[in-house]
Amino acid sequence: MHRARRGVYAKAGLARDSLVAARHGGELACVSVLRTLGVWVLDDELDSADADSPIHVWVGPSGRQHKHEGCGCKVHHEEWTRTPGLGTADAALALIQYAGCAPEERFFASLESALRQGLVTDAGRGMIRRRILKEKRWIVDLARTDADSGLESLLRFRLHLLGISLESQVSIPGITPVDFLLGGRIILEADGRENHDGPSKRHKDLMRDAVTAALGYETLRFDYAMIVYRWQIVLDAILGRMRRIGLSLPQEAAYRL
Ligand SMILES: [Zn+2]
Ligand SMILES: [Zn+2]
Repeated sequence: MHRARRGVYAKAGLARDSLVAARHGGELACVSVLRTLGVWVLDDELDSADADSPIHVWVGPSGRQHKHEGCGCKVHHEEWTRTPGLGTADAALALIQYAGCAPEERFFASLESALRQGLVTDAGRGMIRRRILKEKRWIVDLARTDADSGLESLLRFRLHLLGISLESQVSIPGITPVDFLLGGRIILEADGRENHDGPSKRHKDLMRDAVTAALGYETLRFDYAMIVYRWQIVLDAILGRMRRIGLSLPQEAAYRL
């Protein structure tokens, strides 16, 4: 479970990571901060907290760094509204750092997670947009504040890159809003493990699918492992369904078939 592991991490990992950052001469940065704030990151980033993987450390533009035993730190030099070590971890700064450190889709998913949790204000969002590379600013513009999970963010981001746009959190009579609607007909649901464990989950899903099928919708559901590790299968399913019901495929997507 995500939550439990985050809880464990917060107690054991945070203290250890902060100590390493301080030894190095700075404070925790980037994904190391996002984890502690409860911002959605992929499991492999989460797992890295337990292994000998890099601690991301912010030392400021000209911060002095110290040699220390076992240093594998990933160092960040951003200028910010304060100096390292003299304040509390800031989600906006961590996201700016992450934008320069992680693949675009990971930055996007973490940004949407932070926005949804209210960890980044409108002003913070503007600041993030201004301070990341120009060619990445569109990612901030694409971000919404209502993505339920990082999986939804990844799904929407990847389809966006293929020219497929989705309606998010769409209301359908008789059920709670669906994650995405594609072409007015296809419902896409991303089942994050953190929200959907439990014995009644399957029954609820079947009920949703029955209610929406009666209204003429078709549902595709994908879980964490599929979206993260088996993306081609997910994509082929979506494109296949689009084709079957006669939705035109954007050129980029058609090329993939
Ligand atoms: Zn980093
Ligand atoms: Zn170090």
